[in-house]
Amino acid sequence: MKKIVLASKNLDKVKEMRLALKDLPFEILSLADFAEIPDAIEDGATFEDNAIIKAKFFSEQTNLACLADDSGLEVDALGGLPGVHSARFAGYHADDNTNNQKLLDELKKIGATESKAAYRCALAFVDTDGTQILTQGKVEGKIKTVAKGNGGFGYDPYFYLDANKTMAKISPAEKNNISHRGAALREMILKLKGRFR
Ligand code: IMP
Repeated sequence: MKKIVLASKNLDKVKEMRLALKDLPFEILSLADFAEIPDAIEDGATFEDNAIIKAKFFSEQTNLACLADDSGLEVDALGGLPGVHSARFAGYHADDNTNNQKLLDELKKIGATESKAAYRCALAFVDTDGTQILTQGKVEGKIKTVAKGNGGFGYDPYFYLDANKTMAKISPAEKNNISHRGAALREMILKLKGRFR
Protein backbone atom coordinates (compact mmCIF):
# COMPACT_ATOMS: atom_id res chain seq x y z
CA MET A 1 0.00 0.00 0.00
CA LYS A 2 1.23 3.52 -0.81
CA LYS A 3 2.66 5.31 2.21
CA ILE A 4 1.99 9.00 2.66
CA VAL A 5 3.16 11.33 5.39
CA LEU A 6 1.02 14.10 6.88
CA ALA A 7 3.12 17.22 7.50
CA SER A 8 1.97 17.72 11.06
CA LYS A 9 2.84 16.72 14.60
CA ASN A 10 -0.48 18.03 15.89
CA LEU A 11 -2.23 14.83 16.99
CA ASP A 12 -5.74 16.29 16.66
CA LYS A 13 -5.08 17.40 13.11
CA VAL A 14 -3.49 14.06 12.23
CA LYS A 15 -6.47 12.19 13.68
CA GLU A 16 -8.94 14.35 11.74
CA MET A 17 -7.03 13.92 8.47
CA ARG A 18 -6.56 10.17 8.96
CA LEU A 19 -10.33 9.79 9.35
CA ALA A 20 -11.03 11.92 6.29
CA LEU A 21 -8.56 9.86 4.20
CA LYS A 22 -9.74 6.46 5.40
CA ASP A 23 -11.22 5.35 2.04
CA LEU A 24 -8.02 5.98 0.13
CA PRO A 25 -5.49 3.18 -0.41
CA PHE A 26 -2.83 4.80 1.76
CA GLU A 27 -0.85 3.82 4.81
CA ILE A 28 -0.80 7.13 6.65
CA LEU A 29 2.21 8.28 8.65
CA SER A 30 2.83 11.63 10.28
CA LEU A 31 5.84 13.67 11.35
CA ALA A 32 5.51 12.01 14.75
CA ASP A 33 6.93 8.91 12.99
CA PHE A 34 10.02 10.87 11.89
CA ALA A 35 11.25 12.63 15.01
CA GLU A 36 14.68 13.42 13.56
CA ILE A 37 13.41 15.59 10.68
CA PRO A 38 13.92 19.36 11.11
CA ASP A 39 11.12 21.91 10.69
CA ALA A 40 10.42 23.28 7.22
CA ILE A 41 11.13 26.99 6.72
CA GLU A 42 7.69 28.44 6.05
CA ASP A 43 8.73 31.68 4.39
CA GLY A 44 6.13 31.77 1.60
CA ALA A 45 4.05 34.88 0.95
CA THR A 46 0.77 32.94 0.72
CA PHE A 47 -0.92 29.93 2.35
CA GLU A 48 -0.54 28.10 -0.97
CA ASP A 49 3.22 28.77 -1.12
CA ASN A 50 3.70 27.56 2.44
CA ALA A 51 1.63 24.40 1.95
CA ILE A 52 3.74 23.52 -1.12
CA ILE A 53 7.02 24.39 0.65
CA LYS A 54 6.08 22.02 3.50
CA ALA A 55 4.79 19.20 1.28
CA LYS A 56 7.91 19.30 -0.94
CA PHE A 57 10.31 19.51 2.01
CA PHE A 58 8.81 16.59 3.95
CA SER A 59 8.38 14.51 0.79
CA GLU A 60 12.10 14.94 0.09
CA GLN A 61 13.03 14.26 3.72
CA THR A 62 10.97 11.06 3.95
CA ASN A 63 11.01 9.84 0.32
CA LEU A 64 7.25 9.52 0.61
CA ALA A 65 4.29 11.43 -0.81
CA CYS A 66 3.32 14.20 1.57
CA LEU A 67 0.13 16.11 2.36
CA ALA A 68 0.63 19.51 4.03
CA ASP A 69 -1.70 22.31 5.03
CA ASP A 70 -1.34 25.95 5.85
CA SER A 71 -4.10 28.14 7.19
CA GLY A 72 -4.88 31.36 8.94
CA LEU A 73 -7.08 34.36 9.46
CA GLU A 74 -7.32 37.39 7.17
CA VAL A 75 -8.87 40.53 8.64
CA ASP A 76 -9.96 43.15 6.08
CA ALA A 77 -9.47 46.16 8.40
CA LEU A 78 -5.89 45.00 9.03
CA GLY A 79 -5.08 44.69 5.33
CA GLY A 80 -5.31 40.89 5.45
CA LEU A 81 -3.24 40.39 8.60
CA PRO A 82 -2.44 38.16 10.42
CA GLY A 83 -2.57 36.00 7.23
CA VAL A 84 0.45 33.70 6.92
CA HIS A 85 1.61 35.05 10.30
CA SER A 86 -1.50 33.79 12.11
CA ALA A 87 0.26 31.18 14.26
CA ARG A 88 2.96 33.64 15.41
CA PHE A 89 1.11 36.97 15.23
CA ALA A 90 2.22 37.87 18.77
CA GLY A 91 5.82 36.74 18.20
CA TYR A 92 7.94 33.60 18.29
CA HIS A 93 6.50 32.22 21.55
CA ALA A 94 2.91 33.21 20.72
CA ASP A 95 -0.04 31.13 21.85
CA ASP A 96 -3.78 31.51 21.27
CA ASN A 97 -4.16 34.02 24.14
CA THR A 98 -1.32 36.30 23.11
CA ASN A 99 -2.34 36.11 19.43
CA ASN A 100 -5.90 37.07 20.30
CA GLN A 101 -4.66 39.93 22.47
CA LYS A 102 -2.49 41.15 19.60
CA LEU A 103 -5.52 41.00 17.29
CA LEU A 104 -7.57 43.11 19.73
CA ASP A 105 -4.67 45.58 20.13
CA GLU A 106 -4.29 46.01 16.38
CA LEU A 107 -8.03 46.64 15.96
CA LYS A 108 -7.98 49.10 18.85
CA LYS A 109 -5.09 51.02 17.23
CA ILE A 110 -7.26 51.76 14.20
CA GLY A 111 -10.40 52.35 16.29
CA ALA A 112 -12.27 49.33 14.91
CA THR A 113 -14.56 47.08 16.96
CA GLU A 114 -15.38 44.76 14.06
CA SER A 115 -14.23 43.88 10.57
CA LYS A 116 -15.03 41.51 7.75
CA ALA A 117 -12.64 38.55 7.92
CA ALA A 118 -12.03 35.11 6.48
CA TYR A 119 -10.27 31.92 7.45
CA ARG A 120 -8.38 30.38 4.56
CA CYS A 121 -6.67 27.02 4.16
CA ALA A 122 -4.42 25.63 1.44
CA LEU A 123 -3.63 21.92 1.17
CA ALA A 124 -0.78 20.60 -0.95
CA PHE A 125 -0.07 17.01 -1.93
CA VAL A 126 3.37 16.36 -3.39
CA ASP A 127 4.20 12.89 -4.69
CA THR A 128 7.66 11.32 -4.96
CA ASP A 129 7.59 11.86 -8.75
CA GLY A 130 7.06 15.60 -8.18
CA THR A 131 3.31 15.63 -8.94
CA GLN A 132 1.55 18.45 -7.08
CA ILE A 133 -2.13 18.75 -6.18
CA LEU A 134 -3.33 21.96 -4.51
CA THR A 135 -6.74 22.71 -3.02
CA GLN A 136 -8.15 25.63 -1.06
CA GLY A 137 -10.97 26.43 1.31
CA LYS A 138 -12.38 29.63 2.73
CA VAL A 139 -15.01 30.63 5.27
CA GLU A 140 -16.16 34.23 5.56
CA GLY A 141 -17.29 35.97 8.72
CA LYS A 142 -16.57 38.91 10.96
CA ILE A 143 -14.03 39.56 13.67
CA LYS A 144 -15.51 41.36 16.67
CA THR A 145 -13.70 42.41 19.81
CA VAL A 146 -16.04 40.51 22.16
CA ALA A 147 -15.24 36.80 22.69
CA LYS A 148 -18.01 34.18 22.66
CA GLY A 149 -17.82 30.40 23.14
CA ASN A 150 -15.26 27.90 24.47
CA GLY A 151 -14.89 25.50 21.55
CA GLY A 152 -12.50 25.44 18.62
CA PHE A 153 -9.06 27.00 18.98
CA GLY A 154 -7.05 30.02 17.88
CA TYR A 155 -9.11 33.04 16.87
CA ASP A 156 -12.43 31.12 16.99
CA PRO A 157 -14.01 32.98 19.97
CA TYR A 158 -13.70 36.26 18.01
CA PHE A 159 -14.75 34.89 14.61
CA TYR A 160 -18.49 35.48 14.08
CA LEU A 161 -20.47 33.46 11.56
CA ASP A 162 -23.55 35.59 12.27
CA ALA A 163 -24.67 38.15 14.87
CA ASN A 164 -24.43 35.75 17.80
CA LYS A 165 -22.62 32.63 16.65
CA THR A 166 -18.84 32.38 16.77
CA MET A 167 -16.70 29.55 15.44
CA ALA A 168 -16.08 28.69 19.12
CA LYS A 169 -19.80 28.10 19.71
CA ILE A 170 -20.37 25.35 17.15
CA SER A 171 -19.64 21.62 17.45
CA PRO A 172 -16.48 20.11 15.89
CA ALA A 173 -18.70 18.30 13.34
CA GLU A 174 -20.46 21.53 12.34
CA LYS A 175 -17.13 23.33 12.15
CA ASN A 176 -15.78 20.61 9.89
CA ASN A 177 -18.81 21.02 7.58
CA ILE A 178 -18.34 24.73 7.08
CA SER A 179 -14.68 25.34 7.75
CA HIS A 180 -11.88 26.39 5.42
CA ARG A 181 -9.98 23.21 6.34
CA GLY A 182 -13.02 20.97 5.80
CA ALA A 183 -13.60 22.45 2.33
CA ALA A 184 -9.96 22.13 1.28
CA LEU A 185 -9.82 18.57 2.59
CA ARG A 186 -13.02 17.45 0.80
CA GLU A 187 -11.73 18.84 -2.50
CA MET A 188 -8.35 17.17 -1.95
CA ILE A 189 -9.98 13.81 -1.23
CA LEU A 190 -11.97 14.00 -4.47
CA LYS A 191 -8.80 14.75 -6.40
CA LEU A 192 -6.82 12.00 -4.67
CA LYS A 193 -9.62 9.50 -5.31
CA GLY A 194 -9.51 10.44 -8.99
CA ARG A 195 -5.81 9.69 -9.06
CA PHE A 196 -5.38 6.72 -6.71
CA ARG A 197 -8.50 4.58 -7.11
P1 IMP B 1 -1.72 26.06 10.97
O1 IMP B 1 -1.94 26.13 9.51
O2 IMP B 1 -2.34 24.87 11.61
O3 IMP B 1 -0.30 26.29 11.36
O4 IMP B 1 -2.54 27.27 11.61
C1 IMP B 1 -2.11 28.58 11.51
C2 IMP B 1 -2.77 29.45 12.54
O5 IMP B 1 -3.94 30.02 11.94
C3 IMP B 1 -3.25 28.78 13.81
O6 IMP B 1 -2.23 28.73 14.76
C4 IMP B 1 -4.37 29.70 14.24
O7 IMP B 1 -3.84 30.83 14.88
C5 IMP B 1 -4.96 30.14 12.90
N1 IMP B 1 -6.05 29.25 12.49
C6 IMP B 1 -6.06 28.38 11.46
N2 IMP B 1 -7.24 27.73 11.37
C7 IMP B 1 -7.96 28.18 12.42
C8 IMP B 1 -9.26 27.86 12.89
O8 IMP B 1 -9.99 27.01 12.36
N3 IMP B 1 -9.66 28.53 14.00
C9 IMP B 1 -8.89 29.45 14.61
N4 IMP B 1 -7.68 29.78 14.23
C10 IMP B 1 -7.21 29.15 13.11
